[in-house]
Amino acid sequence: MRRTVPLLDRTPVRRVLTAPQESCPLCDGELQVCQHRKRRIHLLDDTIALTLRDKRCRNPACPSPQLRYRPVEEPLLALPEHEFGLDVVMAVGFMRLRDDFSFPRIHQRLHERAFPVPICPMSVQYQFRNYLSLVDCQVALKDGKLRERLREQGAILPVIDGLQFGEGDPVLYLVIDALSRLPLLGREMFCRSADDLVPFIAQIKEIGVPLLAVVSDKEKALVPAIAEALPGVRHQFCQVHYVKNVAKPMAADLCSLGAEVRETEQALRKFQRSLIHKRKKAEEKDQPLPEDLQVTEKLCEVARAEARCHGKAPLDPPALKRHQGLEKVAEAVREARQKKGGRGPISRSSKNWSRLLRSAGLWPRGSRTAW
Ligand SMILES: [Zn+2]
Repeated sequence: MRRTVPLLDRTPVRRVLTAPQESCPLCDGELQVCQHRKRRIHLLDDTIALTLRDKRCRNPACPSPQLRYRPVEEPLLALPEHEFGLDVVMAVGFMRLRDDFSFPRIHQRLHERAFPVPICPMSVQYQFRNYLSLVDCQVALKDGKLRERLREQGAILPVIDGLQFGEGDPVLYLVIDALSRLPLLGREMFCRSADDLVPFIAQIKEIGVPLLAVVSDKEKALVPAIAEALPGVRHQFCQVHYVKNVAKPMAADLCSLGAEVRETEQALRKFQRSLIHKRKKAEEKDQPLPEDLQVTEKLCEVARAEARCHGKAPLDPPALKRHQGLEKVAEAVREARQKKGGRGPISRSSKNWSRLLRSAGLWPRGSRTAW
């Protein structure tokens, strides 16, 4: 079957995440960044290159100076040492159990996405195994290596979150320790009521390790459920998650805007290659490159840089920032065209540029005057 959706590349989006705590919950000492870790995670629609800034307590009198405080978003993106995100794990689990797809078909589906997931057939099976172990995860309640490790650690900082694959699908609630980044508990639930969540969250106490605090995204049902299940435990709202929830209604628009920007960037790259070819030809003939071509080359460079600039979601989403950058370049071209009064000679490159901008949606349709 012919592919209708164009294949788009997965240039990694760079993100820097920092442990949110400023002071040590055990001794109130100052926390300082002690290490930078690099990690790459393939999500369903994006690949992110993470720089993770962990912190530790600098107070020499701290009872647990060895504790590393890590960014709380990290364990919710992917399991430790795994290259595929939890959304890929969820997608594989759902396609296998709900849609009854075979592993080769799931693999094909992941490859057919607008941003194909770079996953091999064997890895699809590993993701399904991960899904099964998370759906009814009680690993922290059993006497084993994990419990021993948590006891050695001396404290846990559970992050509670509900992951949902699609509207109307059950929610996979996970409790992950933000210090060790390990999943402690998991359960799939069909409703998000506080009554159902209380017994699940209360299990955290059974682990038998002191809790520094609990982190959540302030989901409606989680707030009263945590208060009832873990009375007296500090409940810290993950601000990034909270703001992300507020920004959720924009997600679909941002996703399609991001795809448009990538397409524009690819068109610009192609156009830039043709300019390089022209420059080489001119150099071979020992002729200077025409002035308008030089300007077009510069504009292309600027526009491409704008199409790849970094932004931090949710307050500064990269798709929006890149789109605004491209708009600025288009505006500069429009202004330059107006200053020239549209009377200048129409060279081929000017026509190319406006055609390119028009095809990329950056040029008002119907505009015929050359810049
Ligand atoms: Zn301390």
